[in-house]
Amino acid sequence: MTELAGQVAIVTGASAPRGIGAAIVRRLVEEGAAVVATDIDGVVEIEGRMRDRMELLQDLVEDVQNKNGTALALPLDVTNLDSIQKCIASVKQSCGRIDVLVNNAGSLAGSDSFMSTTPDQWQVSFGVNLLGPMMLAQAVIPEMQALGGGRIINIGSTGSLGAEAGFGAYTTMKHGLVGLSKTIAAEFGVDGIRCNTVCPGYIMTDMHAAANQRLAQEENATVDEIQTRRYADVALRDAGLPEDVAAAVAYLAGPGAHYVTGINLPVSGGVPCGI
Ligand code: NAP
Repeated sequence: MTELAGQVAIVTGASAPRGIGAAIVRRLVEEGAAVVATDIDGVVEIEGRMRDRMELLQDLVEDVQNKNGTALALPLDVTNLDSIQKCIASVKQSCGRIDVLVNNAGSLAGSDSFMSTTPDQWQVSFGVNLLGPMMLAQAVIPEMQALGGGRIINIGSTGSLGAEAGFGAYTTMKHGLVGLSKTIAAEFGVDGIRCNTVCPGYIMTDMHAAANQRLAQEENATVDEIQTRRYADVALRDAGLPEDVAAAVAYLAGPGAHYVTGINLPVSGGVPCGI
C-alpha cells in the first residue's frame, strides 16, 4: 500500500502503545507516509509503571523504522501555541511539507455529573479536545494551501453525535469538534483541503480495558459479563480495535476519499449515540 507515498502526516496524542494514536501512526506509515508521532512531554502510568511519553514515542518510531517505515517523534502539547509553532517549524525543517493532520489527542477531564464538573475541568477539556485542534489546523492550513491541498482528520467520538449522562465536558467539546471540521471543510475546500471527523465508539484501548476491569471488580462480576452487558446495545456486540479507527483515518487521508469532506464517520459497531 503506497497511497500516501511521499506525503507527511502529523498525529497528536500518539504515545500510548495500545492507543488509537499509535495505531494511526502505524497505519499511515503502512500507506507510505512519513509520519510525525507526537504527544505531550511527561510521564504516564502504563500497566502499573511510570513511563516517559517521549520514550514511548521513540519506541514506536524505532519499531516502524525496523519495518522500513519512516517516522519521527516530537513533543507537542496541543494546548500550547508555542509548542505547536515549534513542532510545525521542526516538521517543516525535517520533512519539508505537511499533507495530513490527525487531531487524535483527547481528554476525558470533566467526565462526571454535570453539576460536579468544575470550570477548571471544563477548561482542560476545551483546551485538549477543541482549542488544540483549532490551533493546529490554523498552523497547518497555510502549508497545505501552499501544496494545493491537504487533509485534516479530527478524532471525535460517538459523543460527537449524541449525549449520554455523565460526560458533559467531553460531549460538549466533541460536538464542537464536528463544527470545527465542517467549518474547515466549508472554508478551505476551495484550496483542496478536506476535513472530516472520525467518531469511535467503544474501542479496546488500555483505558477501555481498565474501565471494564474496574466495573468487574465493583460489580463482583467477570470481565466477560461486564463486556456482554456493555456491548449489548452495540449492533456488532463487541468493542472495536484501535486498528479499526486507523483504517477509517487511512481511508479519509487517502485518494479514495477525494470527494469526501465535512462528514462524521462513526467507527462504533453500530452503537446508539444517546439523545
Ligand atoms: P489515549 O491513549 O488517552 O490517547 C489520547 C492521548 O492524548 C494521550 O496520550 C493523552 O495524554 C494525550 N494528550 C492529553 N493531553 C494532551 C495535550 N495537551 N497535548 C497532546 N496530547 C495530549 O486515548 P485513546 O483511547 O487512544 O483516544 C484517542 C482519541 O480517540 C481521543 O480523542 C479520544 O477522545 C477518542 N476516542 C476514544 C475512544 C475509546 O474507546 N478509546 C472512544 C471514542 C473516542 P494523557 O494520557 O495525559 O491523557
